[in-house]
Amino acid sequence: MIRLALALLLGLALSGCAARRPALAPPAPVGASVDVVRQGEIWTADFHLDRPAPVWVFVRSSVTRAGELPWRAHDWIVETPGVRLERRGHYDVLVADNGGPVPAEVRLRFRPYAHDLLADSAPALSFSTGAIALFSRQFDLFALPDAAAAGQLPADLSTATIPFTRTRATFRDEAGPILYAGHRVPSVNLEDEDGTYVLFGPAEPIVSSGIATIIDPALPTWIRGALTEATPAILGRLAAALGPPPGREPMLMVTWTGPTPRRVAMTGSVLPNLLQMTFEGDGVLRENAGLRDHALWFIAHEAAHFWLGEAVVYQYARDQWITEGGADLLAFRIVSEVQPAYDGRAELQKAIDDCVRLSTGRGVASAEERGEQRAYYACGAVFGLIAEAASHHPFGAFVRRLVEKNRADRVLTRAEWLAALDRVSHDPSLSADIAGLLDHGAPDPAPVIASLFARAGVRYALAEGGRPRLL
Ligand SMILES: [Zn+2]
Repeated sequence: MIRLALALLLGLALSGCAARRPALAPPAPVGASVDVVRQGEIWTADFHLDRPAPVWVFVRSSVTRAGELPWRAHDWIVETPGVRLERRGHYDVLVADNGGPVPAEVRLRFRPYAHDLLADSAPALSFSTGAIALFSRQFDLFALPDAAAAGQLPADLSTATIPFTRTRATFRDEAGPILYAGHRVPSVNLEDEDGTYVLFGPAEPIVSSGIATIIDPALPTWIRGALTEATPAILGRLAAALGPPPGREPMLMVTWTGPTPRRVAMTGSVLPNLLQMTFEGDGVLRENAGLRDHALWFIAHEAAHFWLGEAVVYQYARDQWITEGGADLLAFRIVSEVQPAYDGRAELQKAIDDCVRLSTGRGVASAEERGEQRAYYACGAVFGLIAEAASHHPFGAFVRRLVEKNRADRVLTRAEWLAALDRVSHDPSLSADIAGLLDHGAPDPAPVIASLFARAGVRYALAEGGRPRLL
């Protein structure tokens, strides 16, 4: 998942995507199921718990971004007598009043919580039409045999040794079909691991170039128009370059928080085959090229991850340059085509400059340990540029072959990427120098990158200080 915020006026920092970790663990058995139903303004969640246990823990228990508070406490009410919703350590939990096992059937009533969380997808998205999209995984829970243990669980559950079970969630609206993966269905039954948004109420997705787009009609017209036009163009180009998108039909959901004074903000998050963006602030009312470019980059970069990040994943976090740099180079190229005012070359130059800075005396692979995530984006894009020039084809063709060759085991390793470079370049000195920058950087990386560009055929000149400047 990713979360980014464009705080004040434009162009502001973004470190971009949080890492997309490979999720290759075998699925756990189902331990609970839940029926989520909307009846007019009333939302209920009926849990069916498959074993007697003194505590059931909600997996997705991130606190709110504003105030860092647990969010279920105010908006979820337990209707089943003798059961309480409490906070234990990092988690919301269900416990029985008498300390005994939680009953097998528990009913909750809730108000969809449509605000940002610190480290997770918003539990709900609220549209000005009255439509509400619910994040499907907010109902996931698992049992612990010892109630006291819930308070000791680590914030990162993947580090805990617990016999996890999964939750099967069914969603239904008494008023009519709900929208799931771009289509209206009477109800949907989900037990996948990653989660998505299920939409209740009115919305007319625009389906074009294989992506279904739902944009709040109250969003200011200029940005609404830009997104409506550019999104299918971006997806169409990605699919033309990389092949049909893997998995279910991609969706984009865009909401509008309203014209909060003195604010221009865009936040976004990404789930498999679903992009979500929220705009806020009076600064969005006026046309703003920086915000538009940022939004289009976000869509292109994140949609590129449907292939480079989902169809294939990296092996270790230190290999993120493959997916982040690759998605960035694809995005720079595609947004430049879709929006001619966008300066993709300036973005690439920034990547070169940042890569020089962030590989000086230190290897790119270990950037995460130093909190230098930007190195993966910047140097990964530079390495992509080298592969592109050496192959004499658009970078998309290089990526397409990597995706096709690794689709079966899903893992695209560093060795496989470098071997693909050797195949197109017939010059193993390129991959050897890139491996050197990954492992230990260089005392002065500028001449190393310039030399790589020269051998691969990237057109550049030397700027002051010996830095390569793209022509
Ligand atoms: Zn990314």
